[in-house]
Amino acid sequence: MSERTVVYRFKEGIYINLTNRCPNLCTFCIKTKWAMQFDGHNLDLEGKEPSAQEILDLLYRQLQASPAKQIVFCGYGEPTMRLDTVLQVGQALKQHTAYPSFKIRLNTNGLGNLINHRNIVPELKTAVDIVYVSLNAENETLWKQLLRPAPGYEQGYNSVKEFIRSCAQAGFEQVAASCVENTGANPQAVKELALSLGASFNDREYLK
Ligand code: SF4
Repeated sequence: MSERTVVYRFKEGIYINLTNRCPNLCTFCIKTKWAMQFDGHNLDLEGKEPSAQEILDLLYRQLQASPAKQIVFCGYGEPTMRLDTVLQVGQALKQHTAYPSFKIRLNTNGLGNLINHRNIVPELKTAVDIVYVSLNAENETLWKQLLRPAPGYEQGYNSVKEFIRSCAQAGFEQVAASCVENTGANPQAVKELALSLGASFNDREYLK
């Protein structure tokens, strides 16, 4: 297997594979289906999560080679499992005036407040411009069925909704909630919920 990938290009962005840990086990998650591979990259960190400095060094190298529209905190895993690293990297990027062209985006399952036992939105605001939240269900029963949260996160649906509402109120450049198609959820109902929470809505393809 090829060496672990921490930072990679996809479409117009540079993606950061921050962690493989996640409190959910979504029925539609591709990380196990695709054996931790994505777009030719091995995203299996094998427990060796990158430090903030390793990530920044890799990002600066990428940005020197060519610009990017977005830098995205992503997985295969839930980035807010490593909130401190998200904050360190995001804040350092924002202070790095040599590369002002990109926006910084967080892709999250919305459980960051439960994971970190506090409201993380004010801290995220110092490090991130855009927040994409994977919402995926129009009610709690379906959310539990589809996202299969670990013990301790079973009541997470309300926390995810509250997280989206707080982000929308905090003045990020964009806050979007998404729904994966063809899972049994009703994308139109999820869209209406997202809009009622103050977010925009993204439809996502079910990847096989
Ligand atoms: S929240 Fe994301 S990383 Fe976690 S299981 Fe679901 S799809 Fe996979």
